[in-house]
Amino acid sequence: MVVNYHNEPGIDFTDSKNVESFKKALEKVKGELNQKIPLVINGEEKFTKDTYQSINPANTSEVIAEVSKATQKDVDDAFDAANEAYKSWKRWSHKDRAEFLIRVAAIIRRRKEEISAVMVYEAGKPWDEAVGDAAEGIDFIEYYARSMMELADGKPVLDREGEHNKYFYKPIGTGVTIPPWNFPFAIMAGTTLAPVVAGNTVLLKPAEDTPLTAYKLMEILEEAGLPKGVVNFVPGDPKEIGDYLVDSVHTHFVTFTGSRATGTRIFERAAKVQDGQQFLKRVIAEMGGKDAIVVDKNIDTDLAAESIVTSAFGFSGQKCSACSRAIVHKDVYDEVLEKAVALTKNLTLGNTENNTYMGPVINQKQFDKIKNYIEIGSKEGKLEQGGGTDDSTGYFIEPTIISGLKSSDQIMQEEIFGPVVGFVKGKDFEELLEIANDTDYGLTGAVITNNRENWIEAVTSYDVGNLYLNRGCTAAVVGYHPFGGFKMSGTDAKTGSPDYLLNFLEQKVVSEMF
Ligand code: ADP
Repeated sequence: MVVNYHNEPGIDFTDSKNVESFKKALEKVKGELNQKIPLVINGEEKFTKDTYQSINPANTSEVIAEVSKATQKDVDDAFDAANEAYKSWKRWSHKDRAEFLIRVAAIIRRRKEEISAVMVYEAGKPWDEAVGDAAEGIDFIEYYARSMMELADGKPVLDREGEHNKYFYKPIGTGVTIPPWNFPFAIMAGTTLAPVVAGNTVLLKPAEDTPLTAYKLMEILEEAGLPKGVVNFVPGDPKEIGDYLVDSVHTHFVTFTGSRATGTRIFERAAKVQDGQQFLKRVIAEMGGKDAIVVDKNIDTDLAAESIVTSAFGFSGQKCSACSRAIVHKDVYDEVLEKAVALTKNLTLGNTENNTYMGPVINQKQFDKIKNYIEIGSKEGKLEQGGGTDDSTGYFIEPTIISGLKSSDQIMQEEIFGPVVGFVKGKDFEELLEIANDTDYGLTGAVITNNRENWIEAVTSYDVGNLYLNRGCTAAVVGYHPFGGFKMSGTDAKTGSPDYLLNFLEQKVVSEMF
């Protein structure tokens, strides 16, 4: 038995003691930056000659880590190690693996400030967001440990005279985890340890921008006593090893979070059965969104504006769930827009080391892309607020509101993944919902309404995996809001759900005659 699941708390930064303590953690982590990060294959560290640098997006002259780059040969070695480790890891009982995860979560909890501080530097996360990311990582791990315990004995099936039947869950084999940089700890740890607790072994290829955060998990897994080869760490250039990992005849599953372009590429490539492959690969993909907050008439305009602003600009809009479209009833449009602009003017932007509300965007590529979208949007609609960009010391983009858009406009259709929200007006609730669904994506959405009939309509026909009433569209919490989307947002493998581990398990039936 284990205690019931509960969420890991954040850190209260209104308490000056906590602020002082976190500043110390930042200082300590800063002193340890610019270290070399190895590959970890079969529990052995390997430092390669060919490396790349992870840098601080808030201060691009600051090197976070010098990262070893895995070659295809290293990937081959990692598959060998993972396949070998699988032979014994799959024999551990589900409960023993689940208890191992609880130990991992305990170590992360002790190192929560350190891990959060790494994300402040490596991902440019504001303090609250960084702590939230570390805490969510703990939540995923604790949650999946309990899920595995629940599945440990299988599910009942009927017996009949002279026959006893069993239905239980077994692991699949070796797979690949490809996480994103935007939740460099939570998603990375969750999508690595879910297959692992189910008895599979993994090659973890961290996102290029956040390898140090991922390496922290490797340190912790070693400290917790994970057998060699169960998780192998292969940072590197996706151009060299991305397809190679996905295409491998050893890859039983790929768990991916990132862009639509890469997700669909992986989905397609994984479908091809390679020479000697004796199974079909599974792909679990989360590929982003074009999430909206729909605002009805006769509502609290303060709540609407606040929901839009926090969902659009938290972590600079770099969340799959971020609000990039505000779809507002004509009766309240001007008021909601005005209030959203006023709230946005108060947001602070800067180096998150100093605990600003917003920090930089992650890298030059994203900076250029977002800047371009702001230029496009300013022509398609009216630039109401922000729009300023500065990449002289870090990748800073002001929180930006563009009004007067049409649903067909480019910035209302394409995922921007930055601090930009577009406003569009609708004449009635039916039209608001029509606009909300006018997208290839279907991840999150929120509806602000006091009309129950409209809400029922939204529950029925707003085509998103996560729908919220009278709040923003971000901040899903493990255990409360299983997370994953429809349409081109991915395979709807709801993370943090009671069903998530089934992605990494096969069901076996054993029937015995007496
Ligand atoms: P973004 O543009 O937001 O960085 P990507 O989809 O490019 O999103 O990246 C998400 C993850 O996918 C990263 O870990 C990245 O290294 C990885 N990746 C990129 N290209 C490939 C590929 N061809 N095969 C496998 N993984 C890839």
